[in-house]
Amino acid sequence: MDVLKGTYSQLIESKAKDLGFDACGFTQAEELTAEKEILKKWLDNHMHGNMHYMANHFEKRVNPSKLVEGAKTVIVLLTNYTPKEKQSHPDAPIIARYAYGQDYHYVIKDQLKQLYSYIKDEIYPSLEGRYFVDSAPVLERSLAVRAGLGWIGKNTHLIHKKLGSYVFISELIINLTLPPSEPIKEACGGCTRCIDACPTQALTSPQTLDARKCISYLTIENKESIPQEFSGKMENRVFGCDICQEVCPWTWKSRPHTNEKLKAVTKILELTKERWQELTAEEFSEIFRKSAVKRAKYTGLKRNIEFLLSKK
Ligand code: SF4
Ligand code: SF4
Repeated sequence: MDVLKGTYSQLIESKAKDLGFDACGFTQAEELTAEKEILKKWLDNHMHGNMHYMANHFEKRVNPSKLVEGAKTVIVLLTNYTPKEKQSHPDAPIIARYAYGQDYHYVIKDQLKQLYSYIKDEIYPSLEGRYFVDSAPVLERSLAVRAGLGWIGKNTHLIHKKLGSYVFISELIINLTLPPSEPIKEACGGCTRCIDACPTQALTSPQTLDARKCISYLTIENKESIPQEFSGKMENRVFGCDICQEVCPWTWKSRPHTNEKLKAVTKILELTKERWQELTAEEFSEIFRKSAVKRAKYTGLKRNIEFLLSKK
């Protein structure tokens, strides 16, 4: 190990940057006691709607050391996805920014794998652990806060002081003990822009989202019809909704990402209103082949488009 210069944490941070991550922090793999109570109350109030998986593996979700045996540290990584591009046609149905490019799961998984191999090969040969990007019961935002990467805004998103909130969170849960990063203070202050701007009043109080009312849930996770009470309130959103982030001053400062692998797909951004409306199953498969939009499936996307059209 004498060839290595710097602490293990510094080396890992530096490698994470080389691999394309924008921020990196460390926290202990332990029970998230306060967050556990909040999650329990949220689930008891059925605010997760039909996302039944949120209630599964409860103990693992609130304790990374139960998810990964022998875990000591969670390395939390952020990837900026702030796009520089916009959808070309202002009247076209709007999709969430995270879905502009290739599905981030593939891109980030590959980077996580490389970081894991680096730690095992160069730092700690006895390394054991797992890595995840949105693929396991993990309270990613809470872990990011504990790892000093930001705070949870009143809009429920993680906010990083420089990157804003258009960030993907991923993590390595490993058996190597590393010193935890220092958490930072929340900095929403007296602002309530996100709560005021939400078209469906889904932010029922600061940091509390009633998913059943959230356009993001209604257009992606929800497998039923969209309830009529939301007619006329969808703000032309066909897949996801960024409104509570668009109005947040912390996102105005974020710089566009430069990650080639997350580059926006021109074919998606150039879809006109008419082409969205006439989209066939074949076109859907072709255009969204590598996109996160395929999560909604063709039938879900068609349902969303028809709901927008039926607006009175
Ligand atoms: S994503 Fe949209 S609907 Fe959901 S809380 Fe934010 S503003 Fe409201
Ligand atoms: S809009 Fe204001 S209150 Fe909402 S998350 Fe941003 S800073 Fe916080």
